[in-house]
Amino acid sequence: METTVACKRLEEMRDDLDRSISILQGERPGPVASAGYPQDSADAGSTLSEADRTEAILVSARGQRDEVLAALARLADNSYGLCVDCGNQIPEGRLDARPEAARCVGCQAKHARRRR
Ligand SMILES: [Zn+2]
Repeated sequence: METTVACKRLEEMRDDLDRSISILQGERPGPVASAGYPQDSADAGSTLSEADRTEAILVSARGQRDEVLAALARLADNSYGLCVDCGNQIPEGRLDARPEAARCVGCQAKHARRRR
């Protein structure tokens, strides 16, 4: 993939994630708001699980944003498209599906196993 195309796609992804993150942060009840949870336990339970869901989406959106930013940094220093672990070229098809991919499929699998 052309780096200019990759750059454009990554910047669009970053902007989308920025928007989603700020919307989600606006929806998330802060520590002050959580003190005012309704006393009714059923209501409080549903509010909490909703907040948990929002939090989970936020965490994954932030994680993806970090990956996108890291990919943009690799574009800037000309290491984009190279696996950060083994240094091999990441296959075109993989970058096409996931422009923010930092690793080839093999290293990504090993990395995912290590994190577990
Ligand atoms: Zn690799």
